[in-house]
Amino acid sequence: MPNSNGKMPLRLYNTRTHRVEPLRPLQPDHVRIYVCGLTPSAEGHLGHARSFLFFDVLRRYLTHPRNGYRLTYVKNVTDIDDRSIATARAEGTTYDAVIARHYASFRASMSKLGVLEPDHEPYATAYVPQIVEMIGELMERGYAYATRDGVYYRVAAFPRYGALSGKNVDELLVGARIAENEHKDDPLDFALWKFAKPGEPRWDSPWGAGRPGWHIECSAMSRTLLGVPFDIHGGGYDLIFPHHENEIAQSEPLMAAPPMAEMWVHGGLLNFDGRKMSKSLGNFEPLSELLERHDPLAIRLLFLQTGYRKPMNFTEESVAGATAALEKLVATYLRAARGDLEPVVAGRTVRDPSTYRDAIFERLDDDMNTAGALGVLFDLAGDLTRYAQPAVREEGLVVMRDLFAVFGLEPALERTADVQFDEMFVDRLRERLADVLHLNGAGSAEAAIELVIEARNDARKSKQFALSDRLRDALAAERIRLHDSKEGTTWTLDGA
Ligand SMILES: [Zn+2]
Repeated sequence: MPNSNGKMPLRLYNTRTHRVEPLRPLQPDHVRIYVCGLTPSAEGHLGHARSFLFFDVLRRYLTHPRNGYRLTYVKNVTDIDDRSIATARAEGTTYDAVIARHYASFRASMSKLGVLEPDHEPYATAYVPQIVEMIGELMERGYAYATRDGVYYRVAAFPRYGALSGKNVDELLVGARIAENEHKDDPLDFALWKFAKPGEPRWDSPWGAGRPGWHIECSAMSRTLLGVPFDIHGGGYDLIFPHHENEIAQSEPLMAAPPMAEMWVHGGLLNFDGRKMSKSLGNFEPLSELLERHDPLAIRLLFLQTGYRKPMNFTEESVAGATAALEKLVATYLRAARGDLEPVVAGRTVRDPSTYRDAIFERLDDDMNTAGALGVLFDLAGDLTRYAQPAVREEGLVVMRDLFAVFGLEPALERTADVQFDEMFVDRLRERLADVLHLNGAGSAEAAIELVIEARNDARKSKQFALSDRLRDALAAERIRLHDSKEGTTWTLDGA
């Protein structure tokens, strides 16, 4: 059924129903999304970034005029867990100092990648009263029980357990064991509240001082900040079981009309050189370091070239390919914007920009087929410098800019300001060289070289390092070697 604006609504694969389904917000024109955030008790890696980047593109598309939704986007921070406590103990600091350090680093990486900030970014420890309240409700209704090490969820009390992940409780029980340090009735039961051991951080609860389990945080924070039911619950594929299964088991028994989320949307995982990324495999590179080596926008493009639900393999070659592809798109955009056109080859059909726009949106509406939309964009790029009429060409440029905005790639077009500056700079230099040569004739070579050196030093002062390198290389090609020192730059002729 089409929307009020006559178009087919956006369709997404819903893990809950195992089908691609139209998004139909529960409140008119308002989409509410909860995405499970990071547990910053260690450095984030690119695998975390992949999931957050997909939801970033989804939210940009939902608020794009094509869809025009108002959005409330919640991404939590799991700011207490066993690992942050253990790290703090090893370092002689506090759990929140460990979390603050890693999360600051991760936020800086997200900002480099152009991931928009969520509307709410709740820290679990700031929602302890709501968590305790929810555990109390589960206990009252027979879904939870206290033992001597904590409060547990009784999986057997919720017959639909396993429905999201398609797992069967009997199969899960095969080989399941209760760890020696856990006191629970059934191996599948999971902790809602962990009593504090000596020296551990603690919050009060009616059952004893301690800290919340991971799963209950998301149930309590989504209920508090979005209300249940809401529209989309998202996360990485690895969160389907047990985390999201447990969230459903905690939230839905307390609701008049489940499900807690209409759609469950999961992003595929990232492999690194063909292997799962993990510290033990030694292929773990902190995201902050990886983003020093690679263009963050090229990484965005690389992720968008693969369907969001598919597993993806990250290699140095693949990111180099995406870097070149992005440069090519931007260069084509710039040439067209300058009116630097190519002749239309006989027999080659140039398609109207509006057909490209429609094709791009059709692909995005089809379960966010970003790879397909990029394919159309590359086709559009092939025609962009062949639109002879300025108005048509401008329309083509708008289509391209628009998709760059949905994909969060638009800063790549803004960088072009520097490139244009480079070209202006070189043009001016060429004019001045011509003047020098014209005024002084053949004897002016030395003056010309000094002029290039002066331009190179100006470029370095304004941090235009690529330009300064180009000027140095241009001289080197004429066997003129530069020597930089505190006193300035001198030159010698190679082989003279
Ligand atoms: Zn969660």
